[in-house]
Amino acid sequence: KQRFAGKTAIITGAGSGIGRATAIKMAREGANIALFDLVNERTADVERKLNQIRKGCALAVDVDTSNPERMEAAVKKTVEHFGGLDIVFANAGINGSIGPIEELSIEDWQRTLNVNLTGTFLSLKYTIPHMKSKGKGSIIITSSINGNRRFASFGFSPYSTTKAGQVAFAKMAALELAKFKIRVNVVSPGAISTNIDQSTEPTEELESIVIPIEFPEGQQPLADGPGKPEDVANLVSFLASDESSHITGAHIVIDGAESLL
Ligand code: NAD
Repeated sequence: KQRFAGKTAIITGAGSGIGRATAIKMAREGANIALFDLVNERTADVERKLNQIRKGCALAVDVDTSNPERMEAAVKKTVEHFGGLDIVFANAGINGSIGPIEELSIEDWQRTLNVNLTGTFLSLKYTIPHMKSKGKGSIIITSSINGNRRFASFGFSPYSTTKAGQVAFAKMAALELAKFKIRVNVVSPGAISTNIDQSTEPTEELESIVIPIEFPEGQQPLADGPGKPEDVANLVSFLASDESSHITGAHIVIDGAESLL
């Protein structure tokens, strides 16, 4: 199926995990893709893989999504390279510092907010004008069940706060942009097998958090284990495509019933 023939997508965090799987799927279905990430080697690998699928369909862009100047330049570069923009997948995120609230430094707190929230804001801020000029667009944001449906990830207060904030931001943006036919939806995965644990920075005091109950983190009744990045890529591709043309402001959980336990 070539749902994305002639379309251009920006995918942030495209060097790994959910972003990578979505880039591969969308490229197979005809999209041109700008791969935004700050880990160059991994992203260059994804770029090579996409160019094997279809020569010239990929552009790796070295950018920290929380940096306004670099994000503005990266979006400009993408639009100049591919000649327009149709889809934005604001997906880059980190677990960041985890630990007891009183032990987290202001830098710990702000780093997670910068990447997960400010990075999402900038991913919309600089891309919206290009979709407005096309009279159409689809934006998808990656939140999480943590902070929305599930609160038992002890020590993850900065992360969960950003993930709740992304849902509010997506709904505000959906209403604001509906008259321009730009749709905005947000997906909340449960545990997915990716490299995200490499972005976790536990404080020394993490062990001191008393975990009062047995909690079933990562158990997914539907799958007997974590989901796959491809599971999320399928959902995101649907939301990016015209098949979902009447869906905006939706928050869709994709967790194999993990958050119902
Ligand atoms: P991942 O670590 O495999 O991939 C994330 C990518 O984002 C990495 O390549 C990383 O380099 C990139 N990135 C991080 N900070 C960046 C920045 N400032 N600028 C540009 N790129 C940056 O992790 P993933 O699991 O694929 O994560 C993708 C999204 O999914 C995140 O928003 C995460 O919070 C969310 N999520 C993941 C899970 C899970 O269990 N894996 C569950 C729910 C939500």
